[in-house]
Amino acid sequence: MNPASFEKGALTVYFGEKSGKYPDGNQVVVRGRDTLAAFDTPLVANRLREVLAPTDVVILGHMHEDHGAGLHFLSGARVYAHEADLEATRSWAGLARHYGYPAEVLEAMRGKIERQFHYVERPDAMGYSDGALWDLGGTRVRAIHMPGHTSGHCVLLVEPEGVAFIGDIDLSSFGPYYGDATSSLEQFRRTLRAVRDIPAVAWVTSHHKGVVTERETFLALLDAFAARLEAREDAIAAHLAAQPATLDELVAHRFVYPRGYEDVFIEAAERRTIAQHLASLLRAGRVRLDSGRYFAGS
Ligand SMILES: [Zn+2]
Repeated sequence: MNPASFEKGALTVYFGEKSGKYPDGNQVVVRGRDTLAAFDTPLVANRLREVLAPTDVVILGHMHEDHGAGLHFLSGARVYAHEADLEATRSWAGLARHYGYPAEVLEAMRGKIERQFHYVERPDAMGYSDGALWDLGGTRVRAIHMPGHTSGHCVLLVEPEGVAFIGDIDLSSFGPYYGDATSSLEQFRRTLRAVRDIPAVAWVTSHHKGVVTERETFLALLDAFAARLEAREDAIAAHLAAQPATLDELVAHRFVYPRGYEDVFIEAAERRTIAQHLASLLRAGRVRLDSGRYFAGS
């Protein structure tokens, strides 16, 4: 039994649990005349082994544990990752640098992703760059570099269908994730502006929203998603106006994940995220730093 799906031309989306809510994701398959391509391999891939068995190429929109959860059984497929995410796909050492968490967190993270996401290294993975094209026969895939979530994060546009796989620009109510060493708040801001202009008629997210087929709905969801990012920055600024604080104190307060929500990487991701917002607030003159403590105002 296949999970519920969406089809358009050569493309099929197989939805993961809860329309691909993390830790699951949505599996995109594009069946060209000559080549079968899979975009990422979320957990649901493991329930689609018959569908995915003939996969010729796996094109990763980006590398994170929840996007490589089917690579362990697709050993015959060619795996492509954007050059900035390539080392993270090829080796654990590369993925560890990509996350950039403290050593004890990384150790726990490796055990977790091996158990929960069937994590394997893919030393055979090949790199692609912005504008890369895969001609699958009658349909093609174009990579559009949209960094921020990771430095190699790409949108994969299927033509002529006009379907954009936007990956972890996932339009979720949680908002953007940029909590890894190779993530970038500033790149994500640029990406959120640029993704509006991709010539598409449908948008597929890795998680949660699944498929959006109305441009107006897409833009409304995108605006709400981008607003989450600015809401975090404003919340940090408001907190500092009431109470000057160190980075450690801000991390303990939490501005991204709810207090009480625990996972091995949460504190590290919270720290990286808040630090980027503090840098942004400093640049904007909205906060100042004095002896390790952040104060509102310039
Ligand atoms: Zn991701």
